[in-house]
Order: sequence, then C-alpha cells, then structure tokens
Amino acid sequence: MDEVLLKVEDLHTYFYTYEGVVKAVDGVSFDIKKGEIFGLVGETGCGKSVTALSIIGLIDDPGKIVGGKIIFKGKNLLELGEEERRKFRGKEISMIFQEPMTSLNPVYSIGDQIVELLLLHEEGIEDMRKTPKELREKKKKKAIEMLRLVRMPDPERTIDSYPHELSGGMRQRAMIAMMLATKPSLLIADEPTTALDVTVQAQILNILMDMRDKLGISILLITHDLSVITEVTDRVGVMYAGNIVEIADTFTIFKNPKHPYTVGLMEAIPKITEKKEELKQIRGSVPNLIYPPSGCRFHPRCDYIKPICQKKKPKLVEIEPGHFVACHLYGGEKNE
Ligand code: SF4
Repeated sequence: MDEVLLKVEDLHTYFYTYEGVVKAVDGVSFDIKKGEIFGLVGETGCGKSVTALSIIGLIDDPGKIVGGKIIFKGKNLLELGEEERRKFRGKEISMIFQEPMTSLNPVYSIGDQIVELLLLHEEGIEDMRKTPKELREKKKKKAIEMLRLVRMPDPERTIDSYPHELSGGMRQRAMIAMMLATKPSLLIADEPTTALDVTVQAQILNILMDMRDKLGISILLITHDLSVITEVTDRVGVMYAGNIVEIADTFTIFKNPKHPYTVGLMEAIPKITEKKEELKQIRGSVPNLIYPPSGCRFHPRCDYIKPICQKKKPKLVEIEPGHFVACHLYGGEKNE
C-alpha cells in the first residue's frame, strides 16, 4: 500500500464573494496511497468538502482553484481541459454525498441511472434511447451484480425502484453501487453516513471497507465524526480553518495527537468510565475565513500560544516517520 495514487500539493481554493475572498482551502497538502482509506476530519466549514470538490473538479463560480497541484496517477488534473477532466470524473474518481436523495435523479429508476453511467463511461453512449436492447440488458445485469455487491436486498426487484421507494440506507447503497460500477481508482465519500441511523451507518461503513478489500480502490473519507474515522481509516488528516494541521496513521492520531487542535478534539470525545469528568471543549469559535487570524489560524483558541504563532504560519513538518504536524511547538528549526 505504498504506491501513491493521489498527491495534493499546496492547494488553494478561494471563493470570491461580495463580502470578500473566502480562503476556504489555503495551502493543503496530503497524499493517498493505492488501496488506502484516508480520513479527512475537522469542524464544519474547515474546508474538507471544498478540498474534495477541488479534487473531483466540481468547484464552480464564485469558487476558483488559485494555486497548487492535484496529481492523480502522475497527471496534474489542474492542467487538464474540461473535456479531459470530465473523462476522469465518474470513471477514475467517483464521489458519494451525504444525502443520496439529492444526488439521485428522482424520475429515473435506480437501474436506469446505473445503466446510463455504464453506457456513458464504458461505451461512450450519451443517449440511452439509441442503445441496442441487448447492450442495455447486458449493462442491466452488471448493475444488478453491483447492487448485490453492496448487499442491496433483492437486487433483481430493487433495480426497477425509484429513489423515493427506497429507505435512506438503500439509497446510499444504490449510490455506492452506481459510483463503483465503473471501477474507479478513487472514491470520495463526503459524510456518507451522517444522515443515517447508527445501525445502517455501520452497514455502510462495512460496505466501504469491503469494497476497498474486494476492488482494491482507495477511499477519501470526509467526516466530522471521529468514531467513523476510528472504525474505517488507515491514516487521518486533521483540517482546521482551511489548513491541514496534522497527519498520521489512525492509531497515532488517537493515542498520541500532537497539534493542540487535535488534542482538543480527542479530549472532547466522551469516555465510558466510572469516573465522572466534565467534558472538555475547545474554547472560542471557528474563524471567519475572509479575515483569518494571522500566523497560525488556531492561535486565538490555543492554550500553548507563543509570540511567533501570531506572526508566522507553521509549516507541516514530519516529527516522526509518517507523523506530520503544523505547529510552532514541533519541528525545531524547520518551524522557526
Ligand atoms: S502554532 Fe502556536 S498557536 Fe498554533 S497550535 Fe501551535 S502553539 Fe498553538
């Protein structure tokens, strides 16, 4: 699992609004290896989803990628034209969202939507009506297989159902089946379980892990839920106010967090012990990204602040093999 599939380098994505420029992603770097599940975690509004949309190429006005590189299988996606980018989207890189009801087309059956995707990406056919019946039937069989793979109950019947006829969990399974039908190398899952109850949540997470094992795909899992991160991911990147502040394997992030923000997140997790303790929380609130704090963006909320913190943005420095931290407390002279 050492071969790098995706490398994001110094990515900057800004939104040009009437109030000012929102620096939603401001110098983000990380990589995802082949067959790895990489978690991106952080508070709402920290730039996780904007990072994902930048990777898949769905940033629209007033947003703009203003700097950096997104290298996928050796190609910088930001140097490709829209037509080339479109070929990657859905075929090489797929994305599932929090609420599948808003992503699935309500007037087409689940089967028609999967078949349409297969015809487009495997045969180059854009108009389903011009497809020979035998070819449609062949693709429909493949769609049923995909539904079976994601453990959809009674796939032969469900394939003809419309999104509104399915439960939330079944819709998310249909969405995963659709996004994996073209065998992408990278699946981006943006809060895929947030709208589901806990039992269904566990089933969906198991399916994602299963897909990684069976199909060998890499997954970028975006969530604000730390329990989801523990269960599924191999490595984690912690985001704060448009920056990555810490990257390490999942065990290290939970057992030996270094950045004061990550430490605060860990302390805010309720513990099941007999001892009654007050739940700690990170003081203050998320900064306005039109006027982000100078230097380290976490400094107004940090209990370990040093004079340099307000003046200089800390670099993401490797403090031990595979463990990166962006904080002036670490990295020695590299962060002076
Ligand atoms: S750089 Fe300074 S303000 Fe930022 S997290 Fe580290 S100690 Fe706190």
